[in-house]
Amino acid sequence: MNGKVYFSNSLSREKEEFIALEAGKAGIYSCGPTVYHDAHIGNMRHVLLADTTKRVLRVAGYDVKHVMNITDVGHLVGDGDDGEDKMEVGKAREGMDAWGVAKKYEESFFVDTKRLNVIRPDVVCHATGHIPEQIAMIKTLEEKGFTYINSDGVYFDTSKYSDYGKMAKLDIEGLEAGSRVGFNDKKNKTDFALWKFSPKDEKRDMEWDSPWGMGFPGWHIECSAMAMKYLGDSFDIHTGGMDLIPVHHSNEIAQSECASGCKPFVKYWLHNEFLNTGDIKMSKSSGEFLTIQSLIDAGYDPLAFRYLCLNTHYRKPLNFSWEIMQNIAKIYQKMKTKILALKENSDDNITLSDLAMKYDADFKSAIYNDMNISLALTTSNLILNDKILSDAEKYSLILSHDLVYGFDFENMDLEVLEIPKNIIELAEKRKAAKDNKEWESSDKYRDQILKLGYIVKDNKDGYEIIKE
Ligand SMILES: [Zn+2]
Repeated sequence: MNGKVYFSNSLSREKEEFIALEAGKAGIYSCGPTVYHDAHIGNMRHVLLADTTKRVLRVAGYDVKHVMNITDVGHLVGDGDDGEDKMEVGKAREGMDAWGVAKKYEESFFVDTKRLNVIRPDVVCHATGHIPEQIAMIKTLEEKGFTYINSDGVYFDTSKYSDYGKMAKLDIEGLEAGSRVGFNDKKNKTDFALWKFSPKDEKRDMEWDSPWGMGFPGWHIECSAMAMKYLGDSFDIHTGGMDLIPVHHSNEIAQSECASGCKPFVKYWLHNEFLNTGDIKMSKSSGEFLTIQSLIDAGYDPLAFRYLCLNTHYRKPLNFSWEIMQNIAKIYQKMKTKILALKENSDDNITLSDLAMKYDADFKSAIYNDMNISLALTTSNLILNDKILSDAEKYSLILSHDLVYGFDFENMDLEVLEIPKNIIELAEKRKAAKDNKEWESSDKYRDQILKLGYIVKDNKDGYEIIKE
């Protein structure tokens, strides 16, 4: 291995050295999207945490196996056992069946992750494709006496597992009545559905026969069943948004450890903090929330959003505003311009000087220290501004750092940067205003374009737009 790696483990609430269960290998499971709608930029923050974890471990020399699920059934609106299945919500909105909704939004999820240059997980597994595995796990839990059946389905009895809520440090006794809305015939407030019965008078698009009758799996069991299928009863790392700790991840731990006979389910739990969008007015075309497409529509490169996420530590809240986005886009653009200028002097066989090695050591200690990527980026920017290092050294260092950043600096080309549609529209409006000698409004459009990071210049053919 190339150095010790440390992660903040939500389970111990401490920063711990990463010691793989099997030397040289690392298994990572990430809770994937519920494919009933487009992913918002907050979801993408978790996708980037998972991607960065994988990249850091690869740079450290681990052979990483990354598994991510697609939740295409069973995730209810309230994250618990009540409310409509999210797929049904999508179905009502889209006018297609649940399978069509799932396919549509899985595709759009991967379009977005590609735009962010996220490495596709080694295994992408669907809840609907693993019904037998989920049924088998529920049967094991039933045989071991951890379940009961009520009018709603098969439930996990959390009172039978003394460690329930250990990661969330849930105050089970103190949970107020009704704080977890549930069915009246749940034995304990924290009990959760493993298998839900189909409504008697209704045929669902997604339902399966089971030893307990027609129905569908609960949301939590899919992650346990698939994680254990692809990574074993115990594995190294599980990632997710921190909002999943109290219910989803507490339930995953409970059912997995009870099914496997108390084997520790996951060694390191990594959670990212929220991305707050405050009171930003959402664009209508993208629905009621910000998506990667909203950023593109506003003239931003999705990779500038990647820079924004990397520049804030994953365990700190990230505030998003258009002003912040604009500033970051400028910083990212400047970095790219500097790197492009180095390209012609690149040398694949360069031997690094002591100074270059020192910079590289700084970079590695930052990334291995609980993924302090913003500190790593500071080092990379110091490298770019260094007066002693050669261009070839700088370029070689930056490309190796990019294995963690994932900006794909090697293949970028400033010339082919597409001018976004909204910028062209504004430039056209400016031209029309100028032709009509409406100077005030033509200036207004020019300023608007500048605010979005572009400069419009008049020339003999009309005008040209360049990136600021
Ligand atoms: Zn999950």
